[in-house]
Amino acid sequence: MPISKTDFVRGLQCEKMLWLDAHAPEYKIIPPEVQAKLDAGNEFGDAAMGIFGEFVETTTLREDGRLHFAAMLEKTKALLCCDTPVICEAAFSWYGNFCAADILKKEGTGYALYEVKNSYTARQEFVTDLGFQRLLLRKCGVPLLSSKLILRGDELPENVEISDVEKSAPVEFIEHGGFRYKIVDVTKAAKLTERLASLRIFELGKLKRKDAEMPAIGVGEHCEKPYRCWYFAHCHGLCDRDTNQINE
Ligand code: SF4
Repeated sequence: MPISKTDFVRGLQCEKMLWLDAHAPEYKIIPPEVQAKLDAGNEFGDAAMGIFGEFVETTTLREDGRLHFAAMLEKTKALLCCDTPVICEAAFSWYGNFCAADILKKEGTGYALYEVKNSYTARQEFVTDLGFQRLLLRKCGVPLLSSKLILRGDELPENVEISDVEKSAPVEFIEHGGFRYKIVDVTKAAKLTERLASLRIFELGKLKRKDAEMPAIGVGEHCEKPYRCWYFAHCHGLCDRDTNQINE
């Protein structure tokens, strides 16, 4: 079965998480504060689209509101053919595995790939996400020159430390629309995660098959790192099996 970049990042954190996503998503509980963060991330992503000036976005919705991925693939192909300088949500598919790149910017004979995250520092899981995208883009024949993260560029809060990934990466700042963005070039690190993606992509996809058995994975540190798992209550026996309500 094909996977998305989100599946890839989730499957690397815990294979059981990816299995539950495919086979028992009804056990998922997304806390309101996490949902608020996800919504804020989407707004941040939308605001960052114009960071390099005019752009064309491929996002296409079906009548029921779901993404029309086939239409996005077609649009992306057409935009690449006419050398569009900046494409947002550029869609790619390889053996059914798919991703939409936040921003793809033409630079000479190649492209710079950008992933937008509403975060103050470059976390390893963002690089993992980029590695998956790199694999698909390159398999689709896109000549990639660099892979970068677009992050919050305002002053670092006291409780946030610059990550190890970012310490060794070139950084620049851009002002746009009243915001300050930080651009971190993680090309070197993303090349390594691209290799990881090429090794794991098909194996993780098997977890989504109808007949896939649930991986026998117990609870542990991985339930909270890098993200608190949405099946935390389910796997830790904190909720009613029938109603999925957290026990008082
Ligand atoms: S709670 Fe832990 S064991 Fe259960 S799916 Fe999530 S990460 Fe995996």
